[in-house]
Amino acid sequence: MEKIIFLGTGNGGTLELYNTCFVMQNKNGNFLVDTGGSIEIIKRLKNINIGIKDIKHIFISHSHTDHILGLIWMFKKIGRFSINGQIKTKINIYCNNVVYESIVGVSKYVLQEKLLNGVLDIVNFHILKDNEQVEINGINYTFFDIKAKGTKQFGFECNVNGKRVVFLGDETINPELHDRVKSADYVMHEAFCLDSEESIFGAYEKNHSTVKTASEVMNKLEVKNLILYHTEETHGNERKTLYEQEGKENFSGRIYVPNDFDEIIL
Ligand SMILES: [Zn+2]
Repeated sequence: MEKIIFLGTGNGGTLELYNTCFVMQNKNGNFLVDTGGSIEIIKRLKNINIGIKDIKHIFISHSHTDHILGLIWMFKKIGRFSINGQIKTKINIYCNNVVYESIVGVSKYVLQEKLLNGVLDIVNFHILKDNEQVEINGINYTFFDIKAKGTKQFGFECNVNGKRVVFLGDETINPELHDRVKSADYVMHEAFCLDSEESIFGAYEKNHSTVKTASEVMNKLEVKNLILYHTEETHGNERKTLYEQEGKENFSGRIYVPNDFDEIIL
């Protein structure tokens, strides 16, 4: 069974929700997409019975704190396992060149040399080009530049059970990507806040969307299922209902606003 397990669904500043990151899981293994910004990543993976050693594929979309820094905490474990010979097979990290430079640059300053060497022995960095195809756990992924206004960011497209799934990272979709997204079965897009609260949270100035604006665009593009994440957290348990309601008013397909640890079966 192929599914997306959300480890976090919050934006870069949330405290109760973990920063947005998820696992693409199937019978062949786990593929971790982004890592959030703290050691919490290790606890969250443990909560869904995934050990660090069970992850052989990691994609980091861009170099912001809430996507990249969890990886540094994972490196502390990975480095130790590597030194002790407890990990035998390589761990693949897929990312663009800016992310690669950030990971290695930060690691050099914050990890002991011995640990970092352990990491570098076992990790295989795969620096992605725009539109590059990679097979991960038996699924063909095409990684592409989302043409972000901020730092260089990649998303991906894949085919799971005959369904086209597109992950668009954490910025409002660039119109240059509309053709790629058109009629997709599942689109994963950020939604920073409700439309009525844009002036409170300032989604647009951060290159983010409201639920309404994201839903409207995806509706025009005839997307079938829309998954929204990377949100603020002031509505607590009511977030899902409020966001899904606003989504449904502007999108005729199915809307998902997952909570942390929710799963979506593809
Ligand atoms: Zn983010």
